[in-house]
Amino acid sequence: MSKFAGDLHTHSLASGHAYSTITEMAVAAAEKGLTYLGLCEHGPNMPGAPHYYYFGNLRVVPPQIAGVNILAGVEANIINCDGELDLPTRILARLPWVLAGFHSDAGYSGGSLEENTQAAIKVLANPLVDGLVHPGNPTYPLDYEQVVSVAAELGKAIEINNASLTVVRQGSLENCTLIARLAAKLRAPVLISSDAHFADDIGKLDAALALARECGISDDQIINLTAEGIEAYLAKRGKLKRQDSASPQV
Ligand SMILES: [Zn+2]
Ligand SMILES: [Zn+2]
Repeated sequence: MSKFAGDLHTHSLASGHAYSTITEMAVAAAEKGLTYLGLCEHGPNMPGAPHYYYFGNLRVVPPQIAGVNILAGVEANIINCDGELDLPTRILARLPWVLAGFHSDAGYSGGSLEENTQAAIKVLANPLVDGLVHPGNPTYPLDYEQVVSVAAELGKAIEINNASLTVVRQGSLENCTLIARLAAKLRAPVLISSDAHFADDIGKLDAALALARECGISDDQIINLTAEGIEAYLAKRGKLKRQDSASPQV
């Protein structure tokens, strides 16, 4: 089994329905041998999610905790079929990691396949967005061929979400399989995430990795397998911060 360098989609208790502190999450990531942790709290439109002030103040979170590089960002909610997100541009622009996705009870309960597809494409085309999460969610049907083509063209990551295959968003497997096959064919960048809502679940990526491999996705397409892969993707997105000056704490 391949060992991942980072899990770039996780939630701390700030998300309102997740249960570990940022420090507990970082320590768990370190114990699992990860060097990067993406903390992507749900955007403000989701019930229980933090106010936008939370995202505006994320710079106080140290760049490294327990020796793990922390990308403290957001999993923004797509709030309409124009692909608008629930954080102001000025805040999104200074976050080191911005994922976005469709969520029930967060402003957009889904439209026609065409409307959802248009929203997803606009999100991928948004220069402030680093990746589209759980696109296989059956509640928001998409034209996967179009969405994955745009992701490949723009070099934006499409996520295969381990939790979608194991605990939530029932019925995602068939869609995720189609998405993974298209990503393999079109060579789109792929993000494999746990979507952990509890520290112990960080780094649980086996089901998503198995699906990626089964569908022909090559290791060099998976952005978070190696630290070099993560750093290359961050650099391409204009977001690679020098981590050298921060001293690791154990
Ligand atoms: Zn989500
Ligand atoms: Zn999430």
